[in-house]
Amino acid sequence: MCTKSELEQFVKQAKQYARFGKVADYIPALGKANPNDLSIAIYKPDGNVIDAGDTTDKVTLQSISKIITLALVLIDHGEKEVFQKVGMEPTGDPFHSIAKLEEVQPAKPLNPMINAGALAVTHMINGASVEERFWRLLQFVRKLAGNPEISYSKEVATSEFETAFLNRSLCYFLKQHGIINEDVEELMDLYTKQCAIEMTCVDLARIGLVFAMDGRDPLTGEQIMPSDVARICKTFMVTCGMYNASGEFAIKIGIPAKSGVSGGILAAVPGRFGIGIFGPALDDKGNSITGMKLLKLLSKTYSLSIF
Ligand code: GLU
Repeated sequence: MCTKSELEQFVKQAKQYARFGKVADYIPALGKANPNDLSIAIYKPDGNVIDAGDTTDKVTLQSISKIITLALVLIDHGEKEVFQKVGMEPTGDPFHSIAKLEEVQPAKPLNPMINAGALAVTHMINGASVEERFWRLLQFVRKLAGNPEISYSKEVATSEFETAFLNRSLCYFLKQHGIINEDVEELMDLYTKQCAIEMTCVDLARIGLVFAMDGRDPLTGEQIMPSDVARICKTFMVTCGMYNASGEFAIKIGIPAKSGVSGGILAAVPGRFGIGIFGPALDDKGNSITGMKLLKLLSKTYSLSIF
């Protein structure tokens, strides 16, 4: 795999594309990000990390959190129960689209990576209160990243909570159809905190490594999630991890990955390493434009496609 100076070179190349992207600002606090930021870390199973860019920058997980909550609820409830409430099919629609919800009978969000499906998944996190459920999720994230310091951005959580009218409407639809049965404001409180969990690209890469190694943390030897759970999550990363650009991403890059509107990307190269990227300038599908460029360079140069 590449050296630090090669990676720095790739970052320099990819950064040139930042000017074609735009930071997300529908969550007002995300609008403050600098579109020219770009950092990447590659975490190897022997604990070696190759990184480039300002790796102390923190990114909120946003949609990347969906893959982690999915793993947690699969552990909590098992495959059968989870997929009674959410489907397994890609939609080809934008992440917050409401369009397909009415088409499936009986109603059920098509997959856990679109917002409607993610809200149904967050609803399933076990715990007696929002606080306890969030605490369990945070502990799980900390364990995956091997970093007990990870927390969430109150500013970003509040900013999304105050403006998430479309997500609230998805929740009400889900409630009408019996997919969720909790108070919508409580679910939004939990979901916006989940999306606002923040970390560096090094933490992201370490989580990617655990998925890459079938749920086992190679540094501690602990099996953090059953290999089947890691397999399901990686499959969703391939089929719908990069929004409605997932098909093109599979063809051109071919690495299981999940992105978020903060500009983060978590990628897992099976059996080899985890990759974490933070580059807030987004393309028109909502993926980090510089992050995609970086992954393309890496995949082409080192033949990382799984296909
Ligand atoms: N918190 C964001 C939302 O629900 C996540 C979206 C994303 O990263 O795709 O709108």
